[in-house]
Amino acid sequence: KYTRSSALFANAEQVIPGGVNSPVRAFKAVGGTPIFIKEAKGAYLIDEDDNTFIDYINSWGPMILGHAYQPVVDAIIEKAKLGTSFGAPTEIETEIAALAVSMVPNIDKIRFVNSGTEACMSAVRLARGYTGKEKIIKFAGCYHGHSDSFLIQAGSGAVTFGSPNSPGVTNGTAQDTLLAKYNDIDHVKSIIEANPNDIACIILEPVAGNMGCVPPQANFLQKLRALCDEHNILLVFDEVMTGFRLARGGAQELFNVKADIVCFGKVIGGGLPVGAFAASEEIMNYLAPLGPVYQAGTLSGNPLAMAAGLAMLKALESDAEIFNRLAEKTEYLHKGITKVLNDHKIVHTINRVGSMISVHFSGTPVVDFETSAKGNNENFKTFFHGMLNQGVYIAPSAFETWFITDALTYEDLDKTI
Ligand code: PLP
Repeated sequence: KYTRSSALFANAEQVIPGGVNSPVRAFKAVGGTPIFIKEAKGAYLIDEDDNTFIDYINSWGPMILGHAYQPVVDAIIEKAKLGTSFGAPTEIETEIAALAVSMVPNIDKIRFVNSGTEACMSAVRLARGYTGKEKIIKFAGCYHGHSDSFLIQAGSGAVTFGSPNSPGVTNGTAQDTLLAKYNDIDHVKSIIEANPNDIACIILEPVAGNMGCVPPQANFLQKLRALCDEHNILLVFDEVMTGFRLARGGAQELFNVKADIVCFGKVIGGGLPVGAFAASEEIMNYLAPLGPVYQAGTLSGNPLAMAAGLAMLKALESDAEIFNRLAEKTEYLHKGITKVLNDHKIVHTINRVGSMISVHFSGTPVVDFETSAKGNNENFKTFFHGMLNQGVYIAPSAFETWFITDALTYEDLDKTI
């Protein structure tokens, strides 16, 4: 079926220099054929052989309104004609900043960078600078970008739960262990007590997206908040995956808990590379005297990316029903696939939070991100290839999140089920 792509894949190591592009690697891990995409429209991807797939990878999360969403496309075209980067402030950056701040609770100021990775690194650096303390607490199963190891080692290091190098956990015992630690407030307390004056911040995904879309246990975030207040530690929410997706105000709104610094990525860029970090005026003012290079890169806040992000946020802001609609579609799909998968007895758990679903297959429990064995689970492999043949594209790894978009119709969802 995938003639041209198949031929390319046979030589993926040569076609993609180094052969380490992660989707290709992941496809390899499931013994599959990567799909080389030539076009994306709404809920669909179209490959080089003109096959159409219902897309749940969603470019790993940003395209919440579907691909090539017209207002975003128009905004990008209009801005591109006017020049893409000035190295000087632009009105459009101010505009998206004001809109983001108005949509998310507890933030007064926001700064833009180029990715979720940079947002998290900037947030940690800000926390260290503002508090004058060096250590951070990071949860092993939480992923904060491809500079995680730098984030952990920089300064005088971090106190991490479990191994910082093992985010690629699929299911079973190992994942349960990580999740137990993720929710273990006593463990956090004991770390703080052992480092009473050293911890600048606790950084975490408020929904454990990279452990397979797992919500925090009841009041866990509130307990973390209380601990942070007690010990003068900043609470950093990495909302790169959850921001502008779980709810208009992200996890802070959904779980009614305040973070001190919030990191954004994915949806905030409307499909272009945008990250951001935000906090109260007092915390952000720490940056003011430090000069632009402290927190920005060459293309940070460039008008093209800002135009895409602004069009995206405007669309989310102006549609009062969007998050309800997304939640309803997600619930519908969740119910449907749960029934089918339970009948086949190949599933460990299926999680749903907001417009994200993650299916945890039973079978091989732990796999290693670095060796790309991530999808190496026989149950998942069978499922993955079945879905692909049915025209449904899910992430080629056994616990990766499915992102539901507003472009999906109920007909698409029925086809998936
Ligand atoms: N933080 C979380 C929670 C993420 O899911 C990701 C990416 O998947 C990142 C940070 C890194 O963002 P980026 O890939 O834009 O650098």
